Order: sequence, then structure tokens, then C-alpha cells
Amino acid sequence: MNRPVLPGATIGVLGSGQLGRMLALEAKRMGYRVHTLSPGVDTPTGQVADLEVSAEYDDLEAIRAFARGVDVVTFEFENVLIDAADAAAEIVPVRPSGSALHITQQRAREKAFLADRGYPVAPFAKAQSLDELAVGLGAVGLPAIVKTSVFGYDGKGQHRINSIEEGERVWGLIGHQEAIIERLVEFTMEISVVAARGLDGEFAHYGVIENVHHNHILDLSVCPARLPAGIGHEAVHLTHRVLEDLGYVGVLCVEFFVTGDGRLLINEIAPRPHNSGHFTIDACVTSQFEQQVRAVCGLSLGDPAQIRPAAMVNLLGDLWINGEPDWAAAMAVPDVKLHLYGKGDPLVGRKMGHLTALGESVEEAAAKALAARDVLC
Ligand code: AMP
Repeated sequence: MNRPVLPGATIGVLGSGQLGRMLALEAKRMGYRVHTLSPGVDTPTGQVADLEVSAEYDDLEAIRAFARGVDVVTFEFENVLIDAADAAAEIVPVRPSGSALHITQQRAREKAFLADRGYPVAPFAKAQSLDELAVGLGAVGLPAIVKTSVFGYDGKGQHRINSIEEGERVWGLIGHQEAIIERLVEFTMEISVVAARGLDGEFAHYGVIENVHHNHILDLSVCPARLPAGIGHEAVHLTHRVLEDLGYVGVLCVEFFVTGDGRLLINEIAPRPHNSGHFTIDACVTSQFEQQVRAVCGLSLGDPAQIRPAAMVNLLGDLWINGEPDWAAAMAVPDVKLHLYGKGDPLVGRKMGHLTALGESVEEAAAKALAARDVLC
């Protein structure tokens, strides 16, 4: 069961977005074949995979048939049903495991997992009714953020609340579904740590990444983060503990808030390569996607060393407002690398691609990445 999955074998990816695409590109470079399954067609992953299967995630027979055609299954999207991960695991190894997915795909469960083990998190409460929402707001304190427990990412299903009276309106807005209430954190910086754990417990990390969000969506990441070394070591140490406590195999990202008094609070765990780690493709010896291939295939982890300071900016559908962005202008900015995900429909807020820039310093890299994005439209 634990023999490595070697080049020439086939990796099955549940989900078919940009994370699967970048994973597939690295896997194919290394000589693997890649199959992807999702309800879509002509998807970002499907465009570069050897086989694109179109099926619903709750079609367990389709999942089993998919698993029979591959040597290992991973996922690029944490909202894959546990039943789907379990059905695939009847046939081939699934990495990371369904149990790690189970904990991290539901905010309330993830927060309880962290709080029960003594990890630092913002005050939070769970609410399954309007009454519980009111009680929770009282307990957590205001201002607060209400987040739907499932299917929330990039700020989807999130609402800020400044008074108890706003609870009823927000409960309606989120469709009366289970939610968690979190105290609004007054942070001075948001950071993340992208790290991997191998099948034999080996650990590798990319240091601390500094992130700026706009409308709850990641806008800019720079690495290395500009913060005191002690805080960075603590963030890496906490991430290592999370990987161990989850018995995790693969790449994972822990997102943190840094408070004014230098404390760290874990915001969330993403059980997969992460948007803030995209710079690793162009700036590190081993990218987060190659690292994911190595970990899920049971190989040694690669060297995560960063070669040059880097910055990454996301390209959202908003940039298409005046038609196709001016790619040639962006490519004229030195040390800028373009990544587009093959998505046809540039909706507002949709992640269409990203730019990575390298520099002598993170300031220089960020200036180049922002300049290249500015000239797009
Ligand atoms: P999330 O989907 O939970 O990662 O949230 C997306 C972004 O919303 C975070 O990166 C923060 O910028 C912001 N945010 C989420 N939760 C909080 C909180 N409790 N306090 C302050 N800002 C938050």
C-alpha cells in the first residue's frame, strides 16, 4: 500500500480548477499521467490532463470507476464530499486522507479541532438558529463576522455584524444555514505558511508569506514576509503541529492573523496547495505543486528553498471590463511571469490567473507585479 507511485503512473484529481491545472502541469513534467473528475467540461485542469471525466461528486459509482483508472487520488478542492473520498479509498490510496478533509471542509469542525488542541484562534461560536446566532454574538462580542460553515471561501458567505439587531438580516442573507460567528480581529498583518508532510512524516515549508486581501479575496502575496523572526518561527511551528495532529500527507496552508501585540491567531486551514503559495512555481527550487505530487506519490519531499524574493498578484475577471487585457504590455515588465488558468468567462471576482514577479527585495518584486497588473487595462 505504501510503495511509491512512480513516474509513468496516473494521478487522479478530484476537482478541476486552477490548482488541479498547476498540479497537472508539474505532474506531467515529471512523467505522470493525470486524470481529473468534476461536473464540468473543458475545465482548467481538464485542458491539460490526459483524461477529463465529467461526473457529479455524489455519483459514487463514477468516482469508483475513476479510481479504478488511476494509481492514487488527491483533490484540489476541499468541498469534495467525504463519501466520494471514501469511495475512492476503497480502490486506491487517497492523499490527503478523507479524515483531514472531513475536519477542514467545515468551519465549525475545523475551529473546534483547533480550539480543543489549544491552538490560538479568535473567539468563536457556532449557530444553527437565529436564537443561537444572537446568543453567539453576545458571547463572542462585537463587531463580529458571520461565516457559513460550509462552502465558504474567498469571503463567500461572510458578513460583518456591528450590532445584535443586524443578526436577523444576516441570518436571512446566509439562507438560515449553520454558521460560525467570529470576533472581528484587528490584525496588523495577514500571513500564511504553506508546508508539506510526506508519507514518512518528513516536513518541508516555504517560510512565511505576507498576504493582502481585497474584498476578502487574496490580492497580493509577498515572500519572505516582513515580520520579526520569532513570529515567523512560531507560525511555522504551529503549521508543523497542525500537519502532525491531522496525520496529514500532502501540501497544506495555514492562514494566520498577526495582532498588534505580536500574537498569532489561526484563521483557517486549506487542505491543499494555496493561492498564497503560487509564487513557489517561479521562485523556489520545488514548487508547492511538485511538492504535492511528491507527497501524494509517497516520494521524498523536494527542497523548498526560495531562490529570489517574490510577489504574486491575482488577476480577477474584473480586469476584462474593457475587453481582453493587454498581455503584451504586462510581459514587457522585467522579471514578470504570467499564469492564466484557461477560464472562458471572466466574471467579476473570479480568479482568472496570476502574475509573479521576482526582485532583489520583496518591495521591488511587489512593485513589478503591481506595475504589470496596472498596465493590463
Ligand atoms: P476566510 O474566507 O475565512 O479566509 O476570510 C477571508 C478574509 O476575510 C481573511 O483573509 C480576512 O481578510 C477577512 N477575515 C475573515 N475572518 C476575519 C476575522 N475574524 N477578523 C477580521 N478579518 C477577517
